[in-house]
Amino acid sequence: MNSEFDVIHRYFTRPARNALLGTGDDAALVACTPGMDWAVSVDTLVAGRHFFPDTEPAALGHKVLAVNLSDMAAMGAIPRWITLSLTLTSALAQNDTWLKAFSSGLFALADQYQVELIGGDTTGGPLNIGIQIIGEIERGKALRRSGARPGDDIWVSGFPGEAALGLRHLQQQVTLTAPEATSCLAALHTPTPRVALGRALIGLAHSAIDISDGLLADLGHILECSGVAATINFERIPRSPALENRLQPENPARQLAIDCLLAGGDDYELCFTAPEVRRDAIAGLVQTTGVNLSRIGTIKTGKGLTVLTADGNPLILETKGYDHFLAR
Ligand code: ADP
Ligand code: MG
Repeated sequence: MNSEFDVIHRYFTRPARNALLGTGDDAALVACTPGMDWAVSVDTLVAGRHFFPDTEPAALGHKVLAVNLSDMAAMGAIPRWITLSLTLTSALAQNDTWLKAFSSGLFALADQYQVELIGGDTTGGPLNIGIQIIGEIERGKALRRSGARPGDDIWVSGFPGEAALGLRHLQQQVTLTAPEATSCLAALHTPTPRVALGRALIGLAHSAIDISDGLLADLGHILECSGVAATINFERIPRSPALENRLQPENPARQLAIDCLLAGGDDYELCFTAPEVRRDAIAGLVQTTGVNLSRIGTIKTGKGLTVLTADGNPLILETKGYDHFLAR
């Protein structure tokens, strides 16, 4: 039988690296780097709400860290330390295969970003996994939601909507081909946080957000925080082949594909705004970061978000929840 301390000791304790004191005391100790600010955030995944309880444990370990790294990316911060708040059912607390896979998935991604697990809390109950993350950012340089200015270009990284399409596939609302499913389920289960891109955007972008809640909703947060409006060109939003196929006029899954593209959550791509003079510099980041970047619209004065189709008319969005983003 694993006790609480066996679980902590076997699966979540590693020697301190950058921390002054890691797991094992009442609190960890870390030294702040002079001239840097801290970026602090927490994100929790709840079984049955954020993931199916039978999700691969290694993927869960990856994802719970990835979503937190994504918040650091959206601020332009260097992720440094994490703590883990883990609530396990009694069955999972005794399931060494699950625990080993979960912690391996977590540490594999942590090592990739040189992030250190320095403590946490372990309790019994319905499966719930929270990570608190601390990152560092050059003083005053963080990419905020409030910095967008009229005239800014609006950019998005990667191919939004893939994760949402993968989820719809699991829910049997759409049937993907095997290669489409591989790509969409990878986006859903093992997203890649855009940390290097976030760092590269410091000094170039005026504002940034990660699109965990869907492109329009999250861009809407930038607009609200910045007190500006925006126009998006629907045709400029990048789409993976799986989405592009289903966006064709006669495709029965067209509306579902539009939903995924504009409102699908769980993408962990970055949406950011930058002045026109930075266009070439930003386009150059595609080479250095290896991440696709698309310029999809413009920040305007005023309020609201308009999505224009190729013929220049506003897209009529049927799904509930879109309405307050539309120009009236
Ligand atoms: P306390 O009772 O003082 O809060 P705990 O018994 O909760 O201490 O935890 C003992 C040590 O193990 C602490 O250093 C804590 O940070 C660490 N710890 C507990 N759970 C985890 C976890 N899931 N991951 C990493 N460290 C953990
Ligand atoms: Mg404790």
